[in-house]
Amino acid sequence: YKKIELPKQSKDELYQMGETFNNMIAQLEANYQKQEQFVENASHELKTPLTVIEAYADLLLRRGKNTPELFEESVEAIHSEAHRMRNLIEQLLLLAKHDEQWNVEMENVALKGFVEESIKSFREGFKREIELFIEADATVVTDPQKLKQLLYIFLDNAQKYSDKKIKVNVKIRHHQALIEVIDFGMGIPKEELSKVFDRFYRVEQSRARKTGGFGLGLPLAKELAAAIHADVKLESEPGKGTTAQVWLDMPASH
Ligand code: ADP
Repeated sequence: YKKIELPKQSKDELYQMGETFNNMIAQLEANYQKQEQFVENASHELKTPLTVIEAYADLLLRRGKNTPELFEESVEAIHSEAHRMRNLIEQLLLLAKHDEQWNVEMENVALKGFVEESIKSFREGFKREIELFIEADATVVTDPQKLKQLLYIFLDNAQKYSDKKIKVNVKIRHHQALIEVIDFGMGIPKEELSKVFDRFYRVEQSRARKTGGFGLGLPLAKELAAAIHADVKLESEPGKGTTAQVWLDMPASH
């Protein structure tokens, strides 16, 4: 589609319709470019683990039989890169879904028990201590499974970008329930705070840390939040740490 050439002088109804049409075309074009960029980035990210897998498989084929010590290293590398690929594909599939495909099931959830349970289940695989502080309990209407996924993303980032213990607070502020995931790690520079929610965006410093992320966690968190009518916010101070917030509406009776 091409934009319509609009006459300079007139501002009648036809002109306005033309203008609306042009805006729609511009929007479609922008969306298309975004989609193209997404596919390009995804392919690029998938290529990296695939290259490692191929290289190790090749090594095994050529020298595996005669060099048993190569075996363990190669299989471990192939295993871990395949795992990375699976994670990436799972995240891509989630992001590719449209809102209506999310299967959101909203229900009344008492936050205290919910957050306690969620954290208990996360603790197993976690490298850091998680300290939970419930200032106030609140009942919210949400999809508990989605909220749990959302919390997991924030907690996982907290353990990736900080070596210290993680704090989780549950409180009520401004007539809303608030869950905070607080870490005392490297933090995010102010000028990058708005960008970290973009797909595939990673702060340079954390790339260097080789944490193995793809820059899809926070975009997913944003989508999950939108699906359950919650808000997510990040506050951060470089060198001091980061606070990730989940704001949830409470039924009017509170
Ligand atoms: P990733 O998989 O890279 O962690 P995310 O989308 O979850 O992807 O985060 C995007 C980027 O935001 C990260 O690469 C990192 O640079 C930065 N970031 C996210 N959470 C934190 C945090 N708690 N502390 C410091 N930096 C963070």
